[in-house]
Amino acid sequence: MMDKQTAIGVIDKYKKQLEQVSDALWDHPELGYEEHFAKDLYCHLLRKEGFRVEDNLAGIPTAFSGTYGSGRPIIGVLAEYDALPNLSQKAGYIYQEPEQVGGNGHGCGHNLLGAGSLGAVLAIKEFIKQNSKGTVVFLGCPAEENGSGKSFMTRAGVFADLDIALTWHPGDAYSVNNGSTNANYKVIYKFEGKSAHAAISPELGRSALDAVELMNVGVQFLREHISTSCRIHYAITDAGGTAPNVVQSHSEVVYLMRAPRLELLNDLKSRVDDISMGAALMTGTTVSQVFVKACANIVVNAELSQLLQKNMEEIGSANYSSEDNELAAELKKTISNPDGYYVKLADKVCDNDKRKSLLEHANDPIHSEIFPLMKEEDSVVSSDVGDVSWVCPVGQVYTATMAAGTPIHSWQEVSVGKSRMAHKGMIQAAKILAGAAIDVILNPDIAKRAQEELSIRTKGTPFVSPIPDNIHPAIPTRKS
Ligand SMILES: [Zn+2]
Repeated sequence: MMDKQTAIGVIDKYKKQLEQVSDALWDHPELGYEEHFAKDLYCHLLRKEGFRVEDNLAGIPTAFSGTYGSGRPIIGVLAEYDALPNLSQKAGYIYQEPEQVGGNGHGCGHNLLGAGSLGAVLAIKEFIKQNSKGTVVFLGCPAEENGSGKSFMTRAGVFADLDIALTWHPGDAYSVNNGSTNANYKVIYKFEGKSAHAAISPELGRSALDAVELMNVGVQFLREHISTSCRIHYAITDAGGTAPNVVQSHSEVVYLMRAPRLELLNDLKSRVDDISMGAALMTGTTVSQVFVKACANIVVNAELSQLLQKNMEEIGSANYSSEDNELAAELKKTISNPDGYYVKLADKVCDNDKRKSLLEHANDPIHSEIFPLMKEEDSVVSSDVGDVSWVCPVGQVYTATMAAGTPIHSWQEVSVGKSRMAHKGMIQAAKILAGAAIDVILNPDIAKRAQEELSIRTKGTPFVSPIPDNIHPAIPTRKS
């Protein structure tokens, strides 16, 4: 029987290969739903390792899975691989210098994310192979940044069979994500009116721009009567034209609404919808909606958070060299208030000694200390991991792959994406996820408890996707 340590050690055997995969993806930064290079590479490697590969999940060409083993527990490991537009940056540079002006870049470290998850499943596979128990599924999830890939995959039932799912995200410190994210909904309200000359025959005109303005005024008043934890943002994306003497026959405004829970979001959305209809009624115009994106809040799972924390402490952080620290120190100089968030977080640690030691390291170029499990807190940001967490328990960790204080979606994050420090953080993440998965295989009660917790936290409410039924992923037609 293979023990846990030996199985985790398998990741070291694959280290070079995993780094090459991550670097290859960094070299081919693909936007959401266009990740064909990434998909082909992962599917090829998974097949070579004996995984049963299924692609075109949820009708999305770049969504796929690789399964190994049989029976329960079924453990999913989530992978992302999409890049961001306009973030091209030369690797290892300590100043901003695009490799290709206007090109894409891995500003969220998803090149590392997918490769780290691959490392985890290779170790879990080895454990399953030797002990013939359980199943591991590598889940290739496209379009995290702008396409809500996991939301569509969740709606299609891709995660329904999993006992638990584990994932990680590149970060600037070692911590377990024990907080919820916001549910969000982004939608365009399009108003149609009637054009007329504003001086000669104003009575014939019905202004779509008036409707947008009235809608925004209505929403300003609504803000006093919503939960303080909700957010409503907007931008006018079509003012109907530039001529003031023409009544604007078309106008549109995009709204992004956030709420800490799905049910609050649904309520908020329907109140904003009412205001849009009120604005249309007042102006004699019509309103329609164009869906942009939506995702659910993350349902925290304390059982899995504790499991990941235990494994993070057992495995420890990476050994960053003086060169790693030098590069990080140079990059850190380009970041404003780099220690702000770390100090804020460290201040919240209950244990006196732990807090003291974390604060002593506040100015380090790389944060290699391990944060204790933090009190559950809601975060204002949103992620499509939220939808998955409603249908199966999800645990998520962060490891340090970049300089302390590096903002996400920044050139600094792209710059370090191929560095040794990034590779090291990725390997630690792979080991932590593998360790946690192996614990669940050895003790399936953990998965049972995690599932019970999920049903308590969701009050047994079946998950209803925030994406309307008639909406499908916005997959661009493939260039030949
Ligand atoms: Zn990301």
